Amino acid sequence: RKVIATRLAAREALEEANSQLERRIAERTADLRASNERLKGQIRERRHAEQTLRHAQDELVQAGKLAAIGQMSTSIAHELNQPLAALRTLSGNTVRFLERGALETASTNLRTMNDLIDRMGRITASLRSFARRGDDGGQASLAKAVEATLQVLANRISACHLQLHHLFDDQQLAIDQTRLEQILVNLIGNALDAMASQPLPELWLEGELQGDKYRLRVRDNGHGIDAEARKHLFEPFFTTKPGEHGLGLGLTLSASLAAAAKGSLNVEHPATGGTAFVLVLPLVCAPNESAELS
Ligand code: ADP
Repeated sequence: RKVIATRLAAREALEEANSQLERRIAERTADLRASNERLKGQIRERRHAEQTLRHAQDELVQAGKLAAIGQMSTSIAHELNQPLAALRTLSGNTVRFLERGALETASTNLRTMNDLIDRMGRITASLRSFARRGDDGGQASLAKAVEATLQVLANRISACHLQLHHLFDDQQLAIDQTRLEQILVNLIGNALDAMASQPLPELWLEGELQGDKYRLRVRDNGHGIDAEARKHLFEPFFTTKPGEHGLGLGLTLSASLAAAAKGSLNVEHPATGGTAFVLVLPLVCAPNESAELS
């Protein structure tokens, strides 16, 4: 009987321990579930805060761009008023020439008017594409942007037998793809203009990591930039190109696009001649982060 009693006591003790364990497990599970819910809630809040922040940043970038256009408004008005005044005079004259039957002169005037209208159209088109609300949180592949740019400029590049040095790696940069292409078309287009009378034109695209940014140097062996022009390069409507060739908006808008992506655009004048534009843009992933991911 004693043995049975001991066994019974042991079984009861075991059952008690068992049910205590189950109670504890149930409590812990409830605790874990609750903290899981809390974590989920926190994640939701963080996501929401990030979205609000990104939205606020986009608004800031947009406001910055509009402010830049605001600052340019006097020069824009001037640039548009000049051809408008010319159009007014030309159209008045053309009416008179037509009345007199001087068709040849009238048609020359009309062609000049067409050119002026095209120029005004190009000015408003570049401003419009700059002011457009792009994807400010976008990302771009550098190699793809260079490829697209070279395609856009393919005719000019093959006509001058350009020697091109690709000295950069493909990187994911924190800027909208089209905007990066716009900047590169401006920089490489300018380099081609500067090398127009260079018998052996060469262009170097040199990339380098710089902390959490990437630095791309677009260097040419063109005619370089004289001391006076260096002071005005980034001013809207500054151009040294004759006639219809230059609008003087390329560098101003490119620098603003780079700044809107938290990067920069600067110029260097290498001692060996030519010109180098240095475009610095943030990487999508800082280099150590991407190393951890891979
Ligand atoms: P645009 O090309 O319409 O003149 P930009 O703002 O792109 O307007 O350039 C302004 C001026 O800067 C050009 O007219 C030219 O004088 C000078 N420039 C730009 N890039 C170069 C370059 N790579 N080499 C020499 N001069 C340049």
